[in-house]
Amino acid sequence: MWRSITAACCGLALAAAVLSGTAAAAGPGPLPEGPAGPLATMPGGSLAQPPPLAGLSAATARCPAPPYGPRHYAPGTGKTVALTFDDGPGKTTAAVLSILAKYKVPATFFNIGANMAGRPTPVRTEAKDRYVLGNHTWDHPDMTRLSAARQATEMDRANAEQRTLTGTVACVFRPPYGTYNATTLRLAQQRRMSVWLWSVDTEDWKAHGPGSDSAYWVQRIIRLAETEGGRLHHPVVLMHNQAAGNPATVKALPVIIKYFRSHGYRFVTL
Ligand SMILES: [Zn+2]
Repeated sequence: MWRSITAACCGLALAAAVLSGTAAAAGPGPLPEGPAGPLATMPGGSLAQPPPLAGLSAATARCPAPPYGPRHYAPGTGKTVALTFDDGPGKTTAAVLSILAKYKVPATFFNIGANMAGRPTPVRTEAKDRYVLGNHTWDHPDMTRLSAARQATEMDRANAEQRTLTGTVACVFRPPYGTYNATTLRLAQQRRMSVWLWSVDTEDWKAHGPGSDSAYWVQRIIRLAETEGGRLHHPVVLMHNQAAGNPATVKALPVIIKYFRSHGYRFVTL
């Protein structure tokens, strides 16, 4: 586990800290979420500048009052499943959206602010087509290593970017790596964002670089989604659409959708 995570990660110290036990547990997920990979760049090749934060408190008022603390299971009666895509938008977001539209499946996108700034078109598509847009911070830090003020800025910058692109702010928040502390939970609640982790980890972020869309990775993602998710009545499935793209996830997604649909699950958003 250690080797696979640190090998994939651009920040070895961060990955080690996440696993060292200093951070809060990620709930029933067997692993914390992986690194987001390189962030999207602006047309000039630089990273996006954070947006101004003015007026955010008024904009957030439209979210329902959230409970305190993280949730792991999809809402709704009967068997429900929530598909979630983190770290986007990225090179494979359009393909994910196309598949979701083809199968008429709702989903939740926990976007990174800097990636939204670098790739605004799919964010506008997500909003227009009524997918749920979640806050996944401005640039994907381990929140437990930040001061309260910096944690707040991470949330607010991502919401400001989403507001710039879509006119809305997020009502749901997912901390990068699934790590959080009491400050994270309080700040999210103050911003009327529910904190959502997951109950099924497809570990799709581990497939990267050459061969990342090989049958091995596609089958591994499918198997984890089906075996972990099929045990639950309300799975929240963690997948990714990172800046560099997750082609194995795209290949696995139709199979995963058909599995849950054929096993009586209803697709819901968070
Ligand atoms: Zn993430």
